[in-house]
Amino acid sequence: MSSPSPRVAILGGGPCGLYAARVLSRAGLSVTLLDKGTRPGGLATSHERAGNWYDMGCHMLHEFDQEIYEDIMGLMGAESIPVQLDAKIRWAGAFYRYPLQFQDMIRGIPPATLAFYTMGLFYAQIRQYLVPWTPVNAEEALIQLYGSPLYEFFFRDFTHRYWGIHPRELSATFITTKMPRLSAVDVLKKALGKFGIKDKSVRAVDSALLEETLHYSRTGAEAMPRAISGAITQAGGSVIQEAEVTRILTRDGRVHAVEYLKDGTTHQLECDECISTIPIPWLASRTEPPPPLSVQEAAGSLRFKPISIYGLLVKKERCIDALYIYYRDRAFHRVGEPKNAGLTVEPADHTVLIVETTCEIGDEKWRGTDAAKAQIFTDLEQENICRREDIVETHLLRGETGYPIFALGFEPHLKALQDWVDQIPNLQSTGRQGGFKYPNMHSAMRMGATAAQRILKRHGIKA
Ligand SMILES: Cc1cc2nc3c(=O)[nH]c(=O)nc-3n(C[C@H](O)[C@H](O)[C@H](O)COP(=O)(O)OP(=O)(O)OC[C@H]3O[C@@H](n4cnc5c(N)ncnc54)[C@H](O)[C@@H]3O)c2cc1C
Repeated sequence: MSSPSPRVAILGGGPCGLYAARVLSRAGLSVTLLDKGTRPGGLATSHERAGNWYDMGCHMLHEFDQEIYEDIMGLMGAESIPVQLDAKIRWAGAFYRYPLQFQDMIRGIPPATLAFYTMGLFYAQIRQYLVPWTPVNAEEALIQLYGSPLYEFFFRDFTHRYWGIHPRELSATFITTKMPRLSAVDVLKKALGKFGIKDKSVRAVDSALLEETLHYSRTGAEAMPRAISGAITQAGGSVIQEAEVTRILTRDGRVHAVEYLKDGTTHQLECDECISTIPIPWLASRTEPPPPLSVQEAAGSLRFKPISIYGLLVKKERCIDALYIYYRDRAFHRVGEPKNAGLTVEPADHTVLIVETTCEIGDEKWRGTDAAKAQIFTDLEQENICRREDIVETHLLRGETGYPIFALGFEPHLKALQDWVDQIPNLQSTGRQGGFKYPNMHSAMRMGATAAQRILKRHGIKA
């Protein structure tokens, strides 16, 4: 039988693990969070380099989850800076406001082209209405939603470059859960909705069209996880950074301890409950005794797309006229200028750019070779963002598990892993990496809160 106040081990200190620890420590449980990073926040943090802060990809908090939002605002206090969403999309030689306005889009697209795309869209919609069919891959799913002309113009090459995988080799599930946020198509669809052509299958669309306030800080994304980590410690919990979980030890079908490496020494942490937010394939490969062979094979089949983020200090007051801009055909897919959201930059007449790229471990972008930098700097110049000679510092931040890859046929592998986790009664695997999903920060925190509440309920403890 579990002790009245269970000891909880939380693996991973991104928004999900941190918020799970926040809920449990507030309820008075004994919580230890282990995170291999140097600072709390996982992907959603920033790192200090030569006196300036650089985000692991621009991270701003949305307000959608009111309960979490209010809690976070209470923790951050005056450190939080509200900022109006001001993003753009660079597409077909023009900038589009994000959220995209229909009149902007019509201005950008020649009428004949627009008519061609619209006909393709109509055809796809009518075909689906008359003869419903199930797409087998992302290419078919995109054609089903948008028609062939729009797929070929808008999605095919961009998707291929972003993921390094042709849409034919990506799962159709990918389309319903992680669409590149290229809202021109969505706006076109919205306009068509006025004529009675409605698409019920894509839910991401409307949220992308809302006016939004985001939250940031003078030191970038890091202020929020730092505030949550402080609150956990204040409530008696323990947050251990630079602690890499190496083994999850099970006995009689339950997790009884977690081993981690800190400062070259292996430590063991006894626990009654375990919430894991580390990548689910890593959880399987580090559990002892090991899971069945079929689960190990499933773990070996799930992959992540690594990210290389180039943080640049630029000798220029301001580079872009937005918080961030999405690009479809450059060496980067997004460039953010966090100073425009309130980041303090030293010297004050300089700015910081966060240049986001996807890559493969060991390739040029991952290693930050001169060739990779040259390509990025050339593209920045061609986009009139900054001149090469104005870039005074380059800092490379990397993430091995930036994006879960929904490769064709990934679903049964994920299910095999989830089924294996489900039969260990005191283990939960959640969050972006642990759930193999695409939550925003607040959704990841909600996933953490849900896992925490499950434990409280199981032990009859009031939140
Ligand atoms: C480029 C980019 C930009 C984004 N921008 C935004 C944005 O503006 N707004 C927004 O809401 N969301 C944004 N997101 C999404 C956001 O990053 C995620 O929703 C969030 O980080 C998920 O939190 P998590 O805790 O589930 O996972 P993570 O943040 O990935 O945390 C997982 C943690 O596990 C730790 N870990 C892994 N293995 C081990 C181990 N063996 N031992 C110990 N610790 C381990 C890692 O160190 C990490 O801290 C962005 C994502 C990316 C990639």
